[in-house]
Amino acid sequence: MRNYRMYINGKWVDALSGKTFATVNPSTGEELGRVPLAGREDVDEAVKAASEAFTGWSKAMQAERAKAILRFAALIREHSQELIDLEVNEHGTPVMLARGFAAAAVDQLEYIASISRGIMGQVLPQSMPHTVGYLQRVPIGVCAVITPWNVPLMMMLSMVGPAIVMGNTAILKPASVNSILAVKFMEILEKADLPRGVVNLVTGPGGTVGDALASHPGVDVVRFTGATDTGKVILQAASQTAKKCIMELGGNNPVIVCEDADVEKAARLQAGRHYGNSAQNCSTPGRYYVHEKVYDRFLEVFVEEVKRIRVGLPWEESTTMGPMANLQQLKKVEYYIRTAREEGARIVYGGARPTTPPLDRGYFLMPTVVADCKHDMTIVREEIFGPAACILEYSSDEEAIRLANDSTYGLCAGVWTRDGSKALRLANGLQVDSVFINMPRMMTPEFPWGGNVKESGIGKSDSVCGMEEFTDLKFICTSYS
Ligand code: NAD
Repeated sequence: MRNYRMYINGKWVDALSGKTFATVNPSTGEELGRVPLAGREDVDEAVKAASEAFTGWSKAMQAERAKAILRFAALIREHSQELIDLEVNEHGTPVMLARGFAAAAVDQLEYIASISRGIMGQVLPQSMPHTVGYLQRVPIGVCAVITPWNVPLMMMLSMVGPAIVMGNTAILKPASVNSILAVKFMEILEKADLPRGVVNLVTGPGGTVGDALASHPGVDVVRFTGATDTGKVILQAASQTAKKCIMELGGNNPVIVCEDADVEKAARLQAGRHYGNSAQNCSTPGRYYVHEKVYDRFLEVFVEEVKRIRVGLPWEESTTMGPMANLQQLKKVEYYIRTAREEGARIVYGGARPTTPPLDRGYFLMPTVVADCKHDMTIVREEIFGPAACILEYSSDEEAIRLANDSTYGLCAGVWTRDGSKALRLANGLQVDSVFINMPRMMTPEFPWGGNVKESGIGKSDSVCGMEEFTDLKFICTSYS
């Protein structure tokens, strides 16, 4: 079994302690390889390298940085098969979907590179005689990038890419379960010939390596995606040195299906999207509020669509849903399904692990539809982050809005109606960062994501807004009297 290494200051290194840990194939439970178990002393080395590299990289021409990202994009395209294999084997992504992620990765990097050359500061209105004042966009410094396990390749590049193209240097700490994919990511990035220290990789658990980064005085900004509870711990650690934190956190996203909606289309498109990546997406709807007059039809078509999902080994072309990415998350979703049963909901499809070989060995769970949910059930109140969909009935728009907003999260929401005014009324009433009307959530690099609503995050990601988060607005004023 191969032993992998971390990347610090342009060199492949073991952890200073010499310790390692294994990552596992979630379809079979077999070990894939071993990676360094970094500690605080390794983080110190990475921060030192990133700080030293910042001096030169932050002053490089924007065109130079953009071209480096374009080289990286071309290399991702060239090495996409290796990345696809790891998405499939280390995360359990169905191969069809993994190909889509690899193509989207290239597109995202090309977008980041091109848009970075057009990001501008501002000249302020004349407010004192014979002076001119302007806001210049400058890089912030050393950026700790702490990624979640759920969409590993896309997360790594959409968080590292904007940080470095805007002139920061980065230390990537991936979720432990995706560590080999992170090493591959770094091997490819190394070929793009960036100055040493601009991007570094440390592998290890969040409680030590992540915490060492978040609290490190040499780190200037933390870019984190993950659970809200973890985000709060990081915010506390980062507050010791008053760092900027850009955080994409949890969601429990409501979708409202009105009585005048195209119910069949709503049910088919939402069910068709819901279980992609085993529903381990922050944007997956946690709660479908369906008007009482169309509830039965929505449920019927939704279940019909779910029955078409092919659960299988992720490397098989026919598979549309693979395993869950790790055992801990599988057990968590099973707990939610169990509580839903106990609290009176109806499991109308799925609800258990498949028992037939070879799927009985991995972390598989059948796509699950939970009907007749009530708003106060545990499965409705918490973020499921796995292949279960909760369907609830409502009777008035006011009720739907009230229930949708009754959550500690505010990431995104959906509205299905044929009435344009109602759509906008509902969209305006929903306390979320993004609303999708008559469509499930779609991603493109141009669309912003996240924001500052409730406990779902701090700051935008993706789009121009997401890139600007990695800069500071420096005010410069000069007199010409
Ligand atoms: P997680 O919070 O468990 O882990 C995320 C990362 O944080 C990992 O790299 C982990 O090692 C690290 N970490 C853990 N404890 C830490 C600590 N004390 N200090 C520093 N780092 C620490 O999240 P996860 O289970 O990997 O991902 C699932 C969560 O991510 C869900 O809640 C989901 O909604 C959220 N998510 C949000 C978005 C978004 O855009 N809003 C996108 C993807 C995932």
